[in-house]
Amino acid sequence: MISNVVMRLYNTLTRKIEDFVPYEDGKVKMYTCGPTVYHYAHIGNIRNYIGHDVLEKTLRYIGYDVLRAMNITDVGHLTSDSDFGEDKMEVAKKRENKSALEIADFYTDVFFDDLAKVNCCRPEIVSKATDNIDQYIIIIKKLIKDGYAYLSGGNVYFDTAKLDNYYALTNHKEEELFVGVRDSVEVDDNKKNQADFVLWFTTSKYENHELLWDSPWGLGYPGWHIECSGISIKYLGQYLDIHGGGVDNVFPHHTNEIAQSEAYLGHQWCRYWFHNEHLLDDDGKMSKSKGEFLTVSLLEDKGYDPLAFRFMCLNSHYRKQLVFSYDAINQAGITLKKIRQKICNIEDNGEIDSGLYNFYNDRFIQSLADDLNTANALSVLYKVIKDVNLSGKAKIKLLGEFDRVLSLDLFRKEKLLIDEKEILMKIEERGLAKKNKDFSKADAIRDELLSKGIRLIDTRESGTTYEIV
Ligand code: AMP
Ligand code: ZN
Repeated sequence: MISNVVMRLYNTLTRKIEDFVPYEDGKVKMYTCGPTVYHYAHIGNIRNYIGHDVLEKTLRYIGYDVLRAMNITDVGHLTSDSDFGEDKMEVAKKRENKSALEIADFYTDVFFDDLAKVNCCRPEIVSKATDNIDQYIIIIKKLIKDGYAYLSGGNVYFDTAKLDNYYALTNHKEEELFVGVRDSVEVDDNKKNQADFVLWFTTSKYENHELLWDSPWGLGYPGWHIECSGISIKYLGQYLDIHGGGVDNVFPHHTNEIAQSEAYLGHQWCRYWFHNEHLLDDDGKMSKSKGEFLTVSLLEDKGYDPLAFRFMCLNSHYRKQLVFSYDAINQAGITLKKIRQKICNIEDNGEIDSGLYNFYNDRFIQSLADDLNTANALSVLYKVIKDVNLSGKAKIKLLGEFDRVLSLDLFRKEKLLIDEKEILMKIEERGLAKKNKDFSKADAIRDELLSKGIRLIDTRESGTTYEIV
């Protein structure tokens, strides 16, 4: 049953936060642009998938039945996001001396391992670009027949001049797009218009490509953009509710997806466009072309809990840039550990006061329904842990529910940052210092314990005890 919560989501297409209304009551069809599997996914890519995971889980929490599909780009994505440069897979083959298939299989497996480490669920439908060639050919044939595409220099191009509103998603004309974005459109003499893009490449231009398929236009391979339209329409149908990716996908990738899908279908295709801002490092946007880049497994090797990275992402808004630093992930790891320690200490007793329970649950849902305000949702979690009027039973139930979306393994038993024996020794040492009127030493011991998440409580009856904070 759908709770009476209205999901509000920023829509790149309308540039507004809107009430989310799916095409079909109670059901959501959602598409996530998948990874290009020629290398490891860096933690910037993973941030984007965490955003999609939180969105899917929020919609489910509200009560929607969500069907999500994702592609695996194992062909067609060139070193530039547009129609020039070498195919990324071809570059990887040379780098690693392996076949395209071996490269794709290896990095696809690592990608899903990394997603699992940050508790992202695998979309119900995952499909490789190379498994849907027939579908692209069906679409391209119709686009040519209807006058939206043309053959030139051996390739098939989409004719962007045939559309009234090619730039609907960016709200900008080509010449107004900022430099980095504009650069991804190549000057190609075969094109009728500069913005036209390739639907199908043939061997006439790219002779050394390993993966080639027969097509009505000759032996060749699909362009990058057509795969997402093809896979989405094949598995999710003609009407899509949400389509998303990182902000760099807005142009040209998603702009081109809209152009070809709507020209093919003859009606609006996807209503809500969901884009996640980038993760930055010290030198700007994290990217694979920079050489050394950070992966989830590398973080793990360095001793970080991958969920500390998820927690770090949830503390910021998905539409804000986030700067990665070791300090930040360290702090996130410590805070997450403390939260888990506190949760482990909650005793499962008392009655559930349904009024108070619903109050907190509503506040949690409302935070997420407010364009995925995960930071506010976390602050509801802190309040639940602290509220003395909530029974242990109610707290445990609420936190268990919250973790369906947050996926932070909130009930994981954490070792204390300091063990109990050491705490007791420090308490004794502090007692002695106080007796000797060495108050600065006593204070220093108290502060040291506090920095490790232990607050000392001095009582008349039973001396000094402690609580985990
Ligand atoms: P790719 O594997 O290069 O196709 O990228 C996979 C997804 O990650 C795409 O949706 C990109 O928009 C997104 N992405 C790429 N770089 C970053 C970054 N630094 N931060 C967040 N998302 C990114
Ligand atoms: Zn895509």
